[in-house]
Amino acid sequence: LCAARKPFISGNWKLNPQTKEEAVQLASEIAASINPSSPDADVALFVPYVFIEAAMEAVGGKLQVGAEGVVPEMKGAFTGAVSASMLKSVGVQWTLAGHSERRVIFGETDEYINGQVLKLMEMGMSCMLCIGESESEFEQNLAGAVCAVQLKKGLAGVPKESMDRICIAYEPVWAIGTGKVATPEIAQAVHAECRRILAAMYDQETADSVRILYGGSVTPESVDVLMAQPDIDGALVGGASLDSSKFGRIINYE
Ligand code: PGA
Repeated sequence: LCAARKPFISGNWKLNPQTKEEAVQLASEIAASINPSSPDADVALFVPYVFIEAAMEAVGGKLQVGAEGVVPEMKGAFTGAVSASMLKSVGVQWTLAGHSERRVIFGETDEYINGQVLKLMEMGMSCMLCIGESESEFEQNLAGAVCAVQLKKGLAGVPKESMDRICIAYEPVWAIGTGKVATPEIAQAVHAECRRILAAMYDQETADSVRILYGGSVTPESVDVLMAQPDIDGALVGGASLDSSKFGRIINYE
């Protein structure tokens, strides 16, 4: 395990919860569950735009509150969009990009995702780039190949000097929201492959310093063995991040 890579546990609320009151309560419970003597990890919650400021206030600096996405455009006639500068102005540092739900449901391409990543880099912000293969790609043994394309296209034009503001979340699509968590062996193998790809794109030192998180049905039951893998540096948690006792246990993994 590379001592230089600080573990990073993060939650992705998606289109949940439904009210500001619930969001504030969940965020405060999660902040309160961080055990000061647990592993020294960065903790972040990616929350819907409308709850960002309330969640920030509720967590009182105990963890990062980030956005679930951004558009590459900065201003102008883009009804419904939220820009990196808007997020930065309310104190957001971290933003997701490339989540499979954005790719599949909203039709975001690698090129569009790359635009988001570049804009976040330009603004001095940080980005968690999500990548991962579909079930049929997995069955055809294409996980590494799919991750290679998504990494190369998603990070195109990102200089080595900015890579300390990039995290990768490897999320096999077949594991997201399905209860079918990848085995630690499968996850470790793909994470190691992603690191080899990053080493080829940049250099070994950069590859060794980028944090690669696993996502896809992470639970209190699976987190410890996943975090014990040498190339797994954290978790991106969907469903279980909506339950403060489950997510608290995941933050305080053993
Ligand atoms: P899940 O979602 O933990 O509910 O599988 C993970 C994600 O989509 O980031």
